[in-house]
Formats: sequence, structure tokens, C-alpha cells
Amino acid sequence: MNKPGQDNSQLSRGPRKASDFKIRSNRLTEFAIDRDYERCIKCEVCIRQCAFDVHYYDEDEDTIKHRAEDCVSCQRCTVMCPTNAIVVRQNPAQYRAHGSWSPEHVKDINRQAETGGVVLTGSGNDKQQPVYWDKLLINASQVTNPSIDPLREPMELRTYLGRKPDALEIADGKLVSAVPPQLKVETPILFSAISYGAISYNVQKALAQAARELGTFFNTGEGGLHPDFYEYKDNCIVQVASGRFGVHPDYLNAARMVEIKIGQGAKPGIGGHLAGEKVSESVSVTRMIPLGTDAISPAPQHDIYSIEDLRMLVYALKEATNYRVPVSVKIAAVHNAAAIASGMARAGADVLVVDGFRGGTGAAPKVIRDNVGLPIEFAIAAVDKRLRDEGIRNDVSLIAGGGIRNAGDIVKAIALGADAVYIGTAALVAVGCTLCQKCNWGIATQDPYLAKRVNPDVARKRLVNLVQGWSHEIKEMLGGMGINSIESLRGSRSQLRGIGLTSQELEILGVKPAGM
Ligand code: SF4
Ligand code: SF4
Repeated sequence: MNKPGQDNSQLSRGPRKASDFKIRSNRLTEFAIDRDYERCIKCEVCIRQCAFDVHYYDEDEDTIKHRAEDCVSCQRCTVMCPTNAIVVRQNPAQYRAHGSWSPEHVKDINRQAETGGVVLTGSGNDKQQPVYWDKLLINASQVTNPSIDPLREPMELRTYLGRKPDALEIADGKLVSAVPPQLKVETPILFSAISYGAISYNVQKALAQAARELGTFFNTGEGGLHPDFYEYKDNCIVQVASGRFGVHPDYLNAARMVEIKIGQGAKPGIGGHLAGEKVSESVSVTRMIPLGTDAISPAPQHDIYSIEDLRMLVYALKEATNYRVPVSVKIAAVHNAAAIASGMARAGADVLVVDGFRGGTGAAPKVIRDNVGLPIEFAIAAVDKRLRDEGIRNDVSLIAGGGIRNAGDIVKAIALGADAVYIGTAALVAVGCTLCQKCNWGIATQDPYLAKRVNPDVARKRLVNLVQGWSHEIKEMLGGMGINSIESLRGSRSQLRGIGLTSQELEILGVKPAGM
């Protein structure tokens, strides 16, 4: 993310002196930069590649210098330096250690003491709360119910998301029952909501193209659908969020699923904010808002204060799309997610989306990101159990998101009760994101100079490779369990065992301890 008013077209700068820069803080820098002057050839690549003015040429001393204060450790200069002259690392110098007051606490207090504002951050919750995926182990067949070799025997990853009829009536070999609209996905991995505005044009294009190639879906988030991306409508989920940015009849009717966004795992209970500096002409047209204005989505949907209100919006969207596509409702994983999910199913949602507290975002108050919400593992188990207990599990499909890191997490999510997963951060990492929470790589920026750094063809290929690789791994794990279809795994908690979990955690997850 570039600084307000920064002209990145001038990133290739002329000579400057150390005195050209003002000292903005007298605090310890978070990262240290080492430059090997034996290797440095003064090519100035690092100056051009860093969007944060960290490196500069000092003409008095005819040398390349740096000010580490603004470094975010994106590692772009390190990677791009032709002579490997740069090392960027965590600054080993720290204030005196204190058991309660970590360097992060001290840093945040200083930031707020300097600005008086809310500390904003990106990405998802990075605190040391347990990652329950790592405390779940997957089963494998040995003698009875033998395993299946996915290279030699059929293995089905296709799944259908939407309301299922209680029974199917077939006459003369033909399906007679009316089946509500379904979203057919060739793999249980969908790209989660990431808006154009939060990410660059090239990245959203790559997501759309990869979704088409893979037979899965990308999601517009709350940013509308750029006119160029209507050609990918057969693989598009459109969101209707509280700000209603970019929502119009053509947008709704382009979609294969319409998603009402109530909440988001990275920032449950609050709205969204896209800074005006990212509202370029193209973003403003797509969102239908004035150029350069902040896009602020309110915390609540102002027409939803009850399940009945939600039902009215669900059916208004079904009506608007001629009952042709499923309507999903997305919430953040919060304490009573199971009861809320039950209400959403009864309100007519065809698909529930639950987003855990490790879900990513472009910007969120740090205090919310790090303290609000639930791990998605608990939310999946609680929602699936509640829907089963109430006999309405087949009325809805469940997509889980927020912290899915690999194919093992996906298999565990589906065994806990999800039908499919959304991946967001993993997709951005696949196209080059280094989780530095600023953007020097052209991914989460609208700066034209930086956005060109992503080649959409390369990004598309990397996304396709990632999902194909994970899909192969899911098949291997399914085969190992002796299961030949992903839909047969859904809610099979007997395929999981917990390790290092309390009896209460095991009970919530509905799994036995390892060894039983
Ligand atoms: S990119 Fe490497 S070689 Fe070039 S000026 Fe920077 S440190 Fe020196
Ligand atoms: S912000 Fe990135 S490009 Fe700039 S100095 Fe730090 S690591 Fe290098």
C-alpha cells in the first residue's frame, strides 16, 4: 500500500542525501538491513523496487544507503538485488525484555501515542492461539476397507453446493423431483471474497481465469464486478455487502451464486474501509462511488435486524435472479455461530459461509483482528452438529474459510462437517504475497506502477497449480481412508483423532482422542 500522496511513478529517483529525509521516529526499527558493500554494484535496483523509500543514493558519499524505519520486510529488494548484497531481518536490538510487555505492545502504544488513531493492520490473526488443524490427525485404511489408489481408480472431487431435496423421485430412469439451484464445483476449493480495490486488476483477473480453468469460483467481495470480468461470469460469485457497492441487476444476474455478507472472520462486528487512495477511476466505476473517496461499508446491513429481515433479503435476491442461482449468507465465526447458522438456514439461505478468525483482510483494526472471533475448526463442528441435531443439514451447504493452509486442513474441515472451503490468503501467497501487510508486490494495491509487477498469466498458472496440487493431495488422502468421493467424507469425524486436546475441546470438535 503506498502512502497517501506518494507518486510511485517517480520511484526511479535521482540522487539524494541523507539530509533530504526527516527523522519521523526515534524508536527502534522493527527490521534491520545489512548491505554487503563488497557486493553492491550501485545498480539502484533496490531503490526502484522499494515503494517505501527505504533505499536511496547518497551523492555526497557516492553510495547506496537505507533508512530501515519504513521497511516492512516484504523482501522484494532482497530477492531483486542482482548480487545478493542485501539481507533484511528482524532487528535483533530490542528494548529490555519484559514478560508482560512484549516489543509489539510497546510498539503499538508508541504508534498510538504518536497518532491518536486506531492501529490498523492486514492479513489475519497472527497470535499464538492454538491452530486446531495441527491437533487433528487423519485416519488411513490398512486391512479391512482397503485403501483406494486414485491413480488407478475413479475418485470424485466434484461437489454440489445448495439446498438438497429430502428425497429424489426417479421415474423411467429420469429425475422427476425439482432440485433447487446448485453450484457445481469440480474441486471443494473456491477462491474467497477478495474485492477489486483491495486487490489489483491483474490479480482479480488471474483469480477469475484460474477459477474458469479449474471449474471452481472466484468471489467479487464487496467491490462489484469490473466490466472486463463479466466474461468469467460462469465462475463468479457476487457479494451483496452492507455498502451495496457495485450492486445492480446485471451484476446479480451475472452470478452463479449471490452471497450476502454479514460478517468477515478478520473483523467480526465491524464494517469495511477501502482508503480513497485505492479508489482509482476503474475501482470507482466498478463500485459506483466517486473517484478517490473512502469506501466505507457500515458494520450492519441497515435493513437486517432479525432473521425475518434476513429472509426478506434472501428472497429479494432470489426474486431478482429469478430463483436461478443459490443465495449464500456469510458470517464471521463468533461465539454463537451455530445458533446463527440455524437461523440463516431457516431464513432460506442455500449455502452458509463461516469465516474463522484467521481469515485475511486488507485492513482491520488490530485490536479486533487479534481479539475477536473463533477458530474456524470449532465453528465448523458446532454449526454442522447443530444443523444435524435440528434435522436441517441437507437444507444448506457449508463453506468454511479463514486459515486454510494446505490440503490436510481441507480434508479435516470437510471431515468436521464443511462441504467445501474458501481460500484467500493461500491464493494470494500463491501469486507472490509475502504477508508483509503492505504491498510492494503489486497484489493488494491500485498503484499502477506497482500493479504491473503481477503478470496475470503467471499468477493464473500459479493459482491453477496450487489448486491442482491440493486436489491431488486430497485424492491421495481420501484414497488412504478408503473413500472415493469427497461428498462421502463430509462430517465423517470418525476419520479424525485429536492430539494434545482437552476433553472439552474434543467434545466440541466431536472427535475421539488419538489412540482410541
Ligand atoms: S540492488 Fe543490490 S547491488 Fe543494486 S544498489 Fe541495491 S544493494 Fe546494491
Ligand atoms: S520494504 Fe521491502 S523492498 Fe523495502 S527495504 Fe524493506 S524488504 Fe526491501
